[in-house]
Amino acid sequence: MTITNFEEKLKKYAELVVKVGLNVQPGQKLIVRAVTNTAPLVREITAAAYQLGSPLVTILWVDEQVNKIRHKYAPRDSFGEYSGWMLDGITQEIREGAAFLQVAGPDPELLKDMDPEAVSASRSAFAKYRKPIGELQGQNAVQWTVVCPPTPDWAKHVFPETDGDAALELLWEKVFTLCRVDQDNPVAVWRKHIADLGKRRKMLTEKAYTGLHLRAPGTDLKVGLPAGHIWAGGGAKSSKDYDFVANIPTEEVFTLPHKDQTEGTVASTKPLSYYGSMIENFSLTFSKGKVVELSAEKGEDVLRKMVETDDPAGFLGEVALVPHLSPISQSNIVFLNSLYDENASCHLAVGSAYKFNLEGGPAMSNEEFAEVGGNTSLIHVDFMFGSGELDVDGILADGTTEPVMRAGEWAFDL
Ligand code: ZN
Ligand code: ZN
Repeated sequence: MTITNFEEKLKKYAELVVKVGLNVQPGQKLIVRAVTNTAPLVREITAAAYQLGSPLVTILWVDEQVNKIRHKYAPRDSFGEYSGWMLDGITQEIREGAAFLQVAGPDPELLKDMDPEAVSASRSAFAKYRKPIGELQGQNAVQWTVVCPPTPDWAKHVFPETDGDAALELLWEKVFTLCRVDQDNPVAVWRKHIADLGKRRKMLTEKAYTGLHLRAPGTDLKVGLPAGHIWAGGGAKSSKDYDFVANIPTEEVFTLPHKDQTEGTVASTKPLSYYGSMIENFSLTFSKGKVVELSAEKGEDVLRKMVETDDPAGFLGEVALVPHLSPISQSNIVFLNSLYDENASCHLAVGSAYKFNLEGGPAMSNEEFAEVGGNTSLIHVDFMFGSGELDVDGILADGTTEPVMRAGEWAFDL
């Protein structure tokens, strides 16, 4: 690695994850699920957590190549198998109060040549066993964070023209910049950024729009918003009132759509990598909240399987606004990774909504949540529709509208 002060930057990145992302408290355990090729960062994170007084940091390692080997050689009827106890272990740690970190480092096309039926079966088995973890995250039961540090397999897809080592370095440089790690005091810079996002989401919550109208080339979509919806973004609070930041980097403010009130068509503006398969140039048409038509230039089968994972997978669970000139968008890189791409662009998610996006939501059962418009599914998949040509209107209670975004930028100041 020829990046100047790489070790030092890696340490700052780790500190940012532990102090701002997770805000690990003295005496609080940390449970981490991480891919093996991110080990150098995970070791720095572990060091930072112990230095803050965590009594135990437990890492569950996942090797993506082992997953690929399974898809190559395992018996064709075996892909519903999953060792659920591994995820049960995470659930138990979270219930006992541990902070939870996911360190992903996906190869966007890891499983592209594998049997799609098997990929879909293994994905469903994983989603089924992961469900309790997703529910605890939806309630912000503890501080939780997702990060995606660069890996060689990922870097070569982002910079296909550049050779391996150079591609990895280039991606690290970008990630350090976008995570503001190359600035003097990243922790302080982040606290200010989070406060700004906080003002924006407060303003939108107070507007109490009944819906949003999204318009761009290929997109004309009305998304209903349930009464009592809350815009989130930037920082969140755990059930014990600790501040945390679920995604680093983050540029979005988001809320939950009313699951039955989406009408019209939305066109994607960035490719979507879904469990190792690419879906590109796609559009979804909704009626009474549900996807009734879809098409994609690439990966249409994967897209169809995705929205048919279970019945609620065909309904929306999130609408998020990100100005087109966000730092990630300005980098002009397609990261093929939702954690970065979703923060470059307005996006929607099919599948589960977050209960914290609704007043009183975290205390509701899934049935109560559904009654007021909240979706619960085995999946939550973000896809990007934002661009410099997007206009967003807010629909007020009396049916009149006002501009929220024009040509991809905020239409009102803070
Ligand atoms: Zn989002
Ligand atoms: Zn999302």
